[in-house]
Amino acid sequence: LEEEEMKCLNCGSSKYIAKKIDYQYIESGLSNMRLKGVTEFRCQDCDETEVVIPQIAKLHEFLACSLSEKQTPLLPQEFRFLRKHLGYSSEDFSKKIGVTKFTVSRWENAKQKIEPAAERLLRLMIATSRPVERYPEEVFPSEPHDNRPLKLSLQLKRSQWVSQ
Ligand SMILES: [Zn+2]
Repeated sequence: LEEEEMKCLNCGSSKYIAKKIDYQYIESGLSNMRLKGVTEFRCQDCDETEVVIPQIAKLHEFLACSLSEKQTPLLPQEFRFLRKHLGYSSEDFSKKIGVTKFTVSRWENAKQKIEPAAERLLRLMIATSRPVERYPEEVFPSEPHDNRPLKLSLQLKRSQWVSQ
């Protein structure tokens, strides 16, 4: 990230002071997530601050994985984080697990105790799924007889498998 290219969202100034800080990541919806050593830019003209969080997708993957392995029951905010991490709206998720969207809403707003079976199912979905970008019915090809094996050429780069 080029500091020179950054402009203050508040006043448009490009005079920034960068500083490494520990940051409470409340934007995640999780109340107790601390990111160590992220960069905070402070505008020298209006004092507005902006925090840059690198590799957000990997961060969320890590958070979701950690939550799914939590030894104690999921809190409503954690349940919501995992449901959103999977890419489901509360309505889609409720259909997926066979409850009403009002039930999911009450769980996530702490108005009703989360059903233990639903919590286990959500953890299992995290453990076995990647976040959904498309639903399976949208993924199926329009040509039903196209049954060729999926073809990929993969290379390990910086400990990530990437398609070439
Ligand atoms: Zn500013």
